[in-house]
Amino acid sequence: MILSSKGIILKVFPYSNTSVICNAFTDDHGKLTFIAKGIRKPKNPLVSILQPFNLVEFQYYYKKKRGIQLIKEADILISFDKLRGNLITITIASNLLNIINRTFEEGFQHTVVFRLIYKILNKLSANILSNKITYIFFLFHLSKQLGFMPNINQCYHCSKVFTDFAVFNINLKSLICELCQEKYNIETNINIYKDSIFFLNLIDKTNIDKITNIETNNLILSNAYNFLMIFMRSNIPYINNLKGLTEIDKIYYEE
Ligand SMILES: [Zn+2]
Repeated sequence: MILSSKGIILKVFPYSNTSVICNAFTDDHGKLTFIAKGIRKPKNPLVSILQPFNLVEFQYYYKKKRGIQLIKEADILISFDKLRGNLITITIASNLLNIINRTFEEGFQHTVVFRLIYKILNKLSANILSNKITYIFFLFHLSKQLGFMPNINQCYHCSKVFTDFAVFNINLKSLICELCQEKYNIETNINIYKDSIFFLNLIDKTNIDKITNIETNNLILSNAYNFLMIFMRSNIPYINNLKGLTEIDKIYYEE
């Protein structure tokens, strides 16, 4: 059956002498692997269409049980060109694509995550100054959509509302208060400060178009990023050996 889907290209690699395989996150079938046969010839437009970050309309011969779908045609819808011009932005955007590629199984549909990726790439191309906030928005909302974001306002053990700072423990995958941490002698993997909790609440509730207005500073950004990464790594072990994580760490620590 021939289907048509919109998809954001996550990864592209050559196959045999003339073909290309790519992973894309589609709006209606989640992550799919496509093959475009015989396209690596001079002047074939599909070579430039099938590039990471591009939002593409695919027409393809779909077979559910087949691991790779054969592309019939592909047209570019949006190329997010502007994000390619800035080193920090492209590092962040590449990491985002890698995380999605590692996190999702083939064919697991998630329209909200598709929209999230689209909005983040759009935001990264439109405003390079807010790229650190934008990436935190992505990590936070991806965790929430995957269903493992802990309560960031109350202690997991005693339900006390955090007033000063919260303690995160990898094994509990939750935030606890200082008193419970001492009482149960729980190892601290990272402290999340009051300002960072406040910031993450804003990230939770603010529309992505307005996140540039959120007041923040480098200390809050690096603390929030640290927490989200430790937390993501404890929930999604696959992302531990992702390429490019050190580059992202540098972006949050060195500026
Ligand atoms: Zn407590």
